[in-house]
Amino acid sequence: SGDVDWARVRADFPVLTREVHGKPLIYLDSANTGQKPASVIEAVDDFYRRHNANVSRAVHALGTEATEAYEGARAKLAKFLNVRADQLVLCSGTTFAINLVAYSWALPRLGPGDAIVLTRMEHHANIVPWQLVAQRTGATIKVAELDDRGDLDLDRLYALLTPEVKLLAVTHVSNVLGTVNPVREICREARRRGIVTVVDGSQAAPHRPLDIAAVGCDFYALTGHKMSGPTGTGVLWARSEHLQAMPPFIGGGEMIKEVRFDGTVFNDPPHKFEAGTPNIAGFVGLGVAVDYLSTLGMERIEAREQELLAHATAMLSKVEGLRIFGAPKEKAAVISFLVEGAHAHDLATLLDLEGVAIRSGHHCAHPLMQHFGVPATCRASFAYYNTFEEIDAFVASIGKVRALLG
Ligand code: PMP
Repeated sequence: SGDVDWARVRADFPVLTREVHGKPLIYLDSANTGQKPASVIEAVDDFYRRHNANVSRAVHALGTEATEAYEGARAKLAKFLNVRADQLVLCSGTTFAINLVAYSWALPRLGPGDAIVLTRMEHHANIVPWQLVAQRTGATIKVAELDDRGDLDLDRLYALLTPEVKLLAVTHVSNVLGTVNPVREICREARRRGIVTVVDGSQAAPHRPLDIAAVGCDFYALTGHKMSGPTGTGVLWARSEHLQAMPPFIGGGEMIKEVRFDGTVFNDPPHKFEAGTPNIAGFVGLGVAVDYLSTLGMERIEAREQELLAHATAMLSKVEGLRIFGAPKEKAAVISFLVEGAHAHDLATLLDLEGVAIRSGHHCAHPLMQHFGVPATCRASFAYYNTFEEIDAFVASIGKVRALLG
């Protein structure tokens, strides 16, 4: 990551010049939501100032511009993810994307005697939709467990993939441990057994080069706000055969060709799944975010974040009584930890007074907390716009505030 001027990159992010509680902001919560460069903020602003109109309806100039901008964002995303644009359903985020698969693919297909396999490290967004499907269909859920390091126990996972399993849902990268799962291998094993795969890419897409076509899954979900894009934007990628076969999830305008009271003809995918007015400005912003990430280069972003992670891990390891959760073989720039004698929320609250923003809590991963036998952890997550100095200040602040708690 040496050939990028990271200080200049950081200067693209207006919010990072803020102070909180009279201290310079140290934002270490990018796994929760990422900060946005000025170009993304300006693109959203420019859309509303100069182009605002609805998509796919109006023949007037602004309508055409809005449609081109929205479809242009879909094309940029397709290129960024190495898939076809007509295989990308634009939606509000990963949560919506996974629910779309649950309601349109799984609900009509599963029944008593069928099983769904999940893993211990899933975000609630990749658990609860499947529980709702299981309740309504009579299917059961089986859980793939982790080893001591916080990696999936692959032998045990594959042993779960018995003939009654119809679907496997797995996260690409854990939002709590940073574990990078070998999704290519996992999807290959599932596919060999005729099992459909759903990959939650929320924490992968922002941090590493991503080639969805190479993953070999059936569905891949991601969320724009963690990728330096606006909130309320997300993508579901699906194989064309699924998009053709699946019934619509939400009905309304935009998703039809013809509506008659004796029967409605749906639009072609992906529009069949995009009822109603979408988050047009948000996707315009996400398109610019993808341009921004592409210009920096995902390889360089990954290398930069790995350097930040290594530095933070080394610094935190020197703090007495600090426990880092998980030591997976391959890890994204997320560190979950606890400090002896300090409640996670107390520590995060006191760090906030020092200007340091970390997350504390269960990180929408209750089953993972149960695995470690704790109700909550602190989580520091890093992005390419963070600095080594911020990490040093964060670790120094832990030393300072624990004295108050001790
Ligand atoms: N899955 C994972 C792994 C996540 O980290 C998140 C966001 N914390 C989600 C799903 C949900 O994303 P969203 O809230 O944008 O739908």
